[in-house]
Amino acid sequence: MVIYFIFAFHIKKQCAYEESLTNIILKNLLLNPKNTKNMNIDVEIDKNSGYCFGVEYAIQMAEDALLEKKSLFCLGDIVHNDMEVKRLNALGLKIITRDDLQNIHNASVLIRAHGEPPETYQLALKNNIELIDASCPVVLKLQNRVKNSYDNLQENNGQMVIYGKEGHAEVIGLVGQTNQNAIIVGGEHELDKIDFSRPITLFSQTTKSTAGFYKLKDKISEKITEKNGNLADFDANDSICRQVSNREPQLQLFAQSHDVVLFVSGKKSSNGKALFETCLKNNAKSYFIENESEIDENWFSDNIKVGICGATSTPMWLMENVKNFVNKL
Ligand code: SF4
Repeated sequence: MVIYFIFAFHIKKQCAYEESLTNIILKNLLLNPKNTKNMNIDVEIDKNSGYCFGVEYAIQMAEDALLEKKSLFCLGDIVHNDMEVKRLNALGLKIITRDDLQNIHNASVLIRAHGEPPETYQLALKNNIELIDASCPVVLKLQNRVKNSYDNLQENNGQMVIYGKEGHAEVIGLVGQTNQNAIIVGGEHELDKIDFSRPITLFSQTTKSTAGFYKLKDKISEKITEKNGNLADFDANDSICRQVSNREPQLQLFAQSHDVVLFVSGKKSSNGKALFETCLKNNAKSYFIENESEIDENWFSDNIKVGICGATSTPMWLMENVKNFVNKL
């Protein structure tokens, strides 16, 4: 009992959101006396999880700019993690939408790692907005490849296909390189958007699953053959970021080597969903949580190994909080 109260006292000082954690612990303590049994649990954070360099760079740029500016706009959530967005909000970062941008003048706006379409840069110029561009270099390179390929496709009536999620910020930026003409395909169920008798160039959103991309590539090849199209006119480019695809085999091993896996990620994160699938395939006792308040004590038993991992948008401090919570069980 004493340990729990001391723990609750210390974490209350960390930041505002942790106040709710204190309440959870105290509530658990009062309602669930078995909390006091002190399970012997070995907890490990996956050393390969946490921010990719693109997200790390964007957050660093935001923090540096906030030191000078006190207030800064960011076009969309800087990272698909509500906890980290709240932390940066408290430092003065204000999240705005594309619609909001129309009415903002003479201000500073941060472009997050996902990148933006050309129209955003044009609007910034028109509204005298200073852009702090934290677009990930991997995304910028992909935008450039999509633009060049799209321009070449015009010569032979070809189609640009993007394997990605409709409405996702990175996909909006990629489609913007094609005058909004790229066809967005989220999976096999959307293949009827493509004309298989015409040339096709395929790229992927950087955070999609590698398995999903190659499945789609095979399906498109099958359809081209069925429709008597020419496979030589199909150019498939695996543009999944290696920060994501390299994590899949590492996560497989990590998930297999623990009894229970806690996957920490924002629910809006694309690579969070893809990487969690990898955990689940390799360990049925894998749980997707946004933070420690979603942990159910019944997932654990005595003498087990618990692995904590996350998406490329999961801050290390959040995984540390989850670890501290489990250590107190
Ligand atoms: S996942 Fe890759 S492409 Fe996306 S922000 Fe991170 S480093 Fe850049």
